[in-house]
Amino acid sequence: MSGIVVVGAGQAGLALAAKLRAEGYHGPLKLLGEEAWPPYQRPPLSKKFLLGELARERLYLRSRDFYGEHDIDLRLGARVEAIDRRAKKVRFGDEVLAYDRLVLTTGACPRRLPATIGGDLGNVFTLRGIDDVDAMAPLFVPGARLLVVGGGYIGLEAAAVAARAGLKVTLIESGPRILGRVAAEETAGYFRTLHRENDVDLREGTGLRRLLGDNTVEAAELADGTTVSVDLVIVGIGVTPATTLAETAGLPVENGIATDAFGQTADPSIFAAGDCASFPYAGGRLRLESVQNAIEHAECVAKNLLGAENPYRPEPWFWSDQYEVKLQIAGLNTGYDRVVARKGEREGSASHWYFAGRRFIAIDAMNDPRAYMTARRLLAAGASPDPDHLAAADLKTLAAA
Ligand code: FAD
Repeated sequence: MSGIVVVGAGQAGLALAAKLRAEGYHGPLKLLGEEAWPPYQRPPLSKKFLLGELARERLYLRSRDFYGEHDIDLRLGARVEAIDRRAKKVRFGDEVLAYDRLVLTTGACPRRLPATIGGDLGNVFTLRGIDDVDAMAPLFVPGARLLVVGGGYIGLEAAAVAARAGLKVTLIESGPRILGRVAAEETAGYFRTLHRENDVDLREGTGLRRLLGDNTVEAAELADGTTVSVDLVIVGIGVTPATTLAETAGLPVENGIATDAFGQTADPSIFAAGDCASFPYAGGRLRLESVQNAIEHAECVAKNLLGAENPYRPEPWFWSDQYEVKLQIAGLNTGYDRVVARKGEREGSASHWYFAGRRFIAIDAMNDPRAYMTARRLLAAGASPDPDHLAAADLKTLAAA
């Protein structure tokens, strides 16, 4: 018996391995990860860890003893280069491992700037792993001039941490506004104000023409013709799912490794979960990039590997920390045509409720955990508050309804 091999020792890979053991799987279980670190949480990389307020060990999802105690054969520095589907084997370095079932939890890779515009210069970073933070740490000092390229959550979080650490921050977003892909103008407006109050030079509708410098970056020429002097650049322009391994093995890829609702790929022996996988949803396919999805998708697949037939039905939630603000998001706002804003009880707290027609589909809550929890309950129940009366409605009444 070759057992189960999991490729990708991140949030989903670990959740899957742990769930298999918790559900009583006693067979061989191997967890292969290309990074040097045991499975760790990524969210603090653009938050407390980048700020230097969290020790490295606190990132690790489980203690080093956990793997031995649960008979999980964790191999680090093991980049799987090929899958031989016919022989049911994977290859990494000089080693070949056989599997009965294979799970791909390979995550996602940050998009980089092309070398033709200076993307390969020194001191130009992306932010995906511990190694990225380690590499930029010596430059992350008060007074350093940082350019953040991209106004999504990771770019905004990095800008917030840098501003807090005393760097001089410029953030450029080539789209008309920050958070254009993920949130309404109401939420973008809230964070735009917050960043400007914290001295971030935030420029929307401003693309990057090229980065300038001999070996290391010295300046950025922007699409509007202006030039900004910089000591380091953080590129936060999104990720692409890590599908090369699957693709090379001939597995279908549609915005991620294509799986059915049970996490199974076109090969009945191979499954996928987390950032790298897309699954059927609302007549199309969906791929999510969040801790909630990595864990719940992986745990669902683990049960299915053991004989359950659970289709994956995500109840998405996400968070982002910027300065003193915790943004909590629940639901998916795709297809919204109306946003109702509510003021929270505390100074600066607010929530934005997304509707498609009269159907409530998602919330962004800023320092407003009560609104967030109420909304989550409504979403789980498939209930919609009346958008016409929501702005002034009492939360307790809403929850009870
Ligand atoms: P990953 O955690 O990326 O793990 C995949 C692993 O597979 C990686 O270690 C990779 O090196 C390895 N791998 C890939 N290919 C191979 C191969 N061929 N062989 C061996 N190993 C391989 N989500 C939230 O919900 N809230 C947040 O606030 C939040 N903040 C974030 C901040 C940052 C800076 C980042 C980068 C992400 C953040 N996320 C957040 C997203 C969240 O961390 C991811 O969605 C989650 O980690 C996905 O888990 P995963 O296991 O699918 O992928």
